[in-house]
Amino acid sequence: MRRLARSAFVAAILLCLAVAAGAGEELRGNVRSRVFHQSSCRYYGCANCTARFATVKEAVGKGYRACGVCRPGDSVAGSAAVTASRFVGNTKSRKFHHSSCRYAGCANCTADFETRKQAVAAGYAPGGCCRP
Ligand SMILES: [Zn+2]
Ligand SMILES: [Zn+2]
Repeated sequence: MRRLARSAFVAAILLCLAVAAGAGEELRGNVRSRVFHQSSCRYYGCANCTARFATVKEAVGKGYRACGVCRPGDSVAGSAAVTASRFVGNTKSRKFHHSSCRYAGCANCTADFETRKQAVAAGYAPGGCCRP
């Protein structure tokens, strides 16, 4: 057991080094919520994150939006300003979610807000799931 934990630790370090070296530039998109993440994100390895993109531009071009947690694109120098909505609102339930929320990709989540304030001002209430 100890040995297993140790090799996992070594693998994690190697992964970190690879990311630091720029080998892990790949972006992943959640095919359900249509949100994409960079490799440093905790949501990067999610079950629905099966779409892969080489660049932020490619992801946006395919209809994905940048994750509000890892903010892919913010670190990309010279890229066109990606207006990533941080919050999405469900136009039916009038609840808003973090763009990283599992409900952010719902059929009625068509309202986009950049700030929490904006969402509240528009009459939306924070969702109990992600507590935006
Ligand atoms: Zn992310
Ligand atoms: Zn939510």
